[in-house]
Amino acid sequence: MEEFQYKVALITGAGSGIGRETAKMFAKYGAQVVVSDQDETSGQGTVNMIRELGGKSTFIKCNVAVEAEVQELISKTVKEYGRLDCVFNNAGIEGKSQTINECTRESWDTTVSVDLTGVWLCMKYEIEVMQKFGGGKIVNCSSIAGIIGFENLSPYVASKHGIIGLTKTAALEFAKKGIRINAVCPGVIETPMLRRFTQGDVESMAKEVPMGRIGQPNEIAETVIWLCSDKSSYITGQAIIIDGGWTSK
Ligand code: NAP
Repeated sequence: MEEFQYKVALITGAGSGIGRETAKMFAKYGAQVVVSDQDETSGQGTVNMIRELGGKSTFIKCNVAVEAEVQELISKTVKEYGRLDCVFNNAGIEGKSQTINECTRESWDTTVSVDLTGVWLCMKYEIEVMQKFGGGKIVNCSSIAGIIGFENLSPYVASKHGIIGLTKTAALEFAKKGIRINAVCPGVIETPMLRRFTQGDVESMAKEVPMGRIGQPNEIAETVIWLCSDKSSYITGQAIIIDGGWTSK
């Protein structure tokens, strides 16, 4: 995809899992990639992988739940690369496994501040910049937990449903301004998050999936890249489900 040559792509939570794979894929297709994560070591690890493959990449540390850090992430990106074309707002946490009544205010706030407020904050500052440069593409990371309920994960499920509402609203607000905004809804994908969630037994989830297997991070990355490419030029405000059939059950 030569269209990513000279483009600048930013990925949050790119030190691990789906974010890392998407950062590597953007670089493979020629983009200059800003790898962002709250964890410097893992983020720098992704940058090193991209550079070893001959790609161009920089790490910028950012906790997406902190407005000043998000502002700085966007301003540093534009300072270094002069523009911002594509963004994958991917950073997220699963939160504690608790019923609604067991969930404390602190636990609720921790998850929602990263998973929902973090996406809103990122879009707020990304859109400001994209408007100045005449457009851009944003993909937000929701989940099948943004489509259906999951027991014991109320802050996560509420946040992921909220991301789809935010995505649709932002898409309407900026549809005439050259900014396309979509979401992806991964099913169970083999990453450190899923390994934590299943306490290492990811294959226990495979039997729940109609296709009979866990998804791989590159299967999400491919869709993110497509949503950021001109091949999806008439698509905005959509939540694309990539789940091996889970939500069709
Ligand atoms: P992951 O392997 O845990 O990667 C998430 C990355 O985000 C980690 O590097 C993490 O850093 C970082 N991060 C966490 N909180 C952050 C914050 N406040 N600011 C910046 N970075 C932060 O998880 P993943 O499975 O790749 O998940 C990526 C996205 O996909 C998430 O939004 C998740 O909800 C979504 N998703 C995943 C699945 C799945 O089955 N894996 C399914 C549906 C949706 P630390 O390691 O330091 O925490």
